[in-house]
Amino acid sequence: MRPRRALRLVALTAAATTLAAFVVLNASVHSGVRRQRKKVSSGVGGARNAFSGVDAAGYLSGGRTRDREHDPYAQHAFNVRVANSLQPDRPIPDTRHPRCRGLDFDEEELNTLSVVVTFHNEARSTLLRTLVSILNRTPQDLLEDIVLVDDASDDPSDGLLLAGLPKVRLVRNEQRQGLARSRVRGADSSKGEAIFFLDSHCEVNQGWATPLLDTLRQNPRSLVCPVIDVIDQDTFDYRASGSVLKGGFDWGLHFRWVPLTEEEAATRTDPTSVYRSPVVAGGLFLIAREWWEDLGKYDPGLEVWGAENLEMSLKAWQCGGSVEVAPCSRVGHVFRRRHPYTFPDGNANTYLRNSRRVAEVWLDEFSHFFYETRPSALQQTYGDISGRKALRERLGCQGFSWYLKNIYPDLGAPSKHDLAYGQLQQGNLCLQGAEPPKPHKKAQKRPHQGDKQAGHSGGEAASATVTVQECTSGEGAGQRWGLTQEGSVTQGERCLTVLTSGKRVLLYPCAAGPRQRWQRQGRRLQHIASGLCLDSTNAPDAQALPCRDALYSQQWDFSVELQALPTL
Ligand code: UDP
Ligand code: MN
Repeated sequence: MRPRRALRLVALTAAATTLAAFVVLNASVHSGVRRQRKKVSSGVGGARNAFSGVDAAGYLSGGRTRDREHDPYAQHAFNVRVANSLQPDRPIPDTRHPRCRGLDFDEEELNTLSVVVTFHNEARSTLLRTLVSILNRTPQDLLEDIVLVDDASDDPSDGLLLAGLPKVRLVRNEQRQGLARSRVRGADSSKGEAIFFLDSHCEVNQGWATPLLDTLRQNPRSLVCPVIDVIDQDTFDYRASGSVLKGGFDWGLHFRWVPLTEEEAATRTDPTSVYRSPVVAGGLFLIAREWWEDLGKYDPGLEVWGAENLEMSLKAWQCGGSVEVAPCSRVGHVFRRRHPYTFPDGNANTYLRNSRRVAEVWLDEFSHFFYETRPSALQQTYGDISGRKALRERLGCQGFSWYLKNIYPDLGAPSKHDLAYGQLQQGNLCLQGAEPPKPHKKAQKRPHQGDKQAGHSGGEAASATVTVQECTSGEGAGQRWGLTQEGSVTQGERCLTVLTSGKRVLLYPCAAGPRQRWQRQGRRLQHIASGLCLDSTNAPDAQALPCRDALYSQQWDFSVELQALPTL
């Protein structure tokens, strides 16, 4: 590695230009007249100019990561050796749908853009690449400024040396403020009409900015997200994110990627069209300055990292705005398995504290489910939230029940009587309830259909089969179960049932009879009337078979165990 890297640095030194060149470049940018119907800036032709004003080679070689190359993951939780070996202006694949390339935007109609990048001890190579990608792939007339917020990194020159880049302004926190307050500070010192927040280990892709800005033009109260591509933490390969996903969360308020519901997917015929998302995807989003200020920016009580994406999104939806994904905008991000930085109050405490603030301000009576899922939150101090509650009052925001019903029905809500909730899992297999057959006229012409569905016909129309299938990442209703205190395993209005005659497990409307009673024996689920246990041996059939100790096919876990909470 070393000889190759040294060679590359020599090459970069030759390419690096002086501050004088930077001034010329900047002057030409500012004298440029806004043209109409310009094509999106393409290619990396201007790469060398982008880091004029900065001695890129000197900057990279001065980073503190040099000393730690025996473990390239130690400092940044990604492979910094590979990160350092790549050009600041490396080409990346254009991952947009081909139809996106034909779209034409009237730049005259779009807001000017500020990009806010906060960082704490970021690797110099990824930080520089983030900035260079913005400079090279954003239409110059639209890009007002890039505000780089150094959140008390150990080495102040990590940021200082980049302040010579075109349009870059540096702000430094002498005391660590965490991601939310740093972003607020960065937004405050930026000048554009719209603000885009970005992590410090990203690469924006071809034509990324205009689809976001155009969505904002159509809906100024939208938080607009790009599709986040993957920059591999080991190889730094840039990969298109595959399926169409939206941002969501579970009752523990942990972020998760969620597929579109069947209905949403069915109504989306154009791959370039914008779609709604319950939560901003990973915290990269565009917002109009006015809406950002109306919404009270980020909660200033949020520390270090965590839950700020939820705070912003719930607030946006509940207070009259929206969150959308513009699929023609692509931005790569290095996803990693752990946080490489310190949490002064401990990672778990900080995350729990932030989540609790969000739950207390935005979840109303549904905060119950958050506490049941993360009971230790009840012991967590969370500071003063009166300012946030007043903001919610002032903006006249909708309740969480409105959000749940209209924006994120696929989250589903446990019943207050549930002991456990969510997917009923066995490794990567899940118990799956079929949709009940729809009672429509045609069914009369096919008399055998009822028999096939449930072994019965006539009055049992609402019954359905139960199978064992691979778990889906989403929260599709068919894999969502609740275990009630009375011993019913429910799915909506229907209950897991074993008929006296058979061993098939079925779904029938809940009727509180003994055929629908279950009890837990460790991880087994035993049907009380027959004494049999839920078993996946003959998957995809779900059956009730004689209970046997330690039989893997009889071990089941609910994804969420709800605890009885005396204080609620
Ligand atoms: N960050 C920061 N101050 C902090 C913690 C994080 O400025 O105290 C920055 C970090 O450098 C990154 C962004 O906030 O640019 C998001 O953090 P991270 O990438 O760790 O979050 P993830 O992508 O894992 O959600
Ligand atoms: Mn990140």
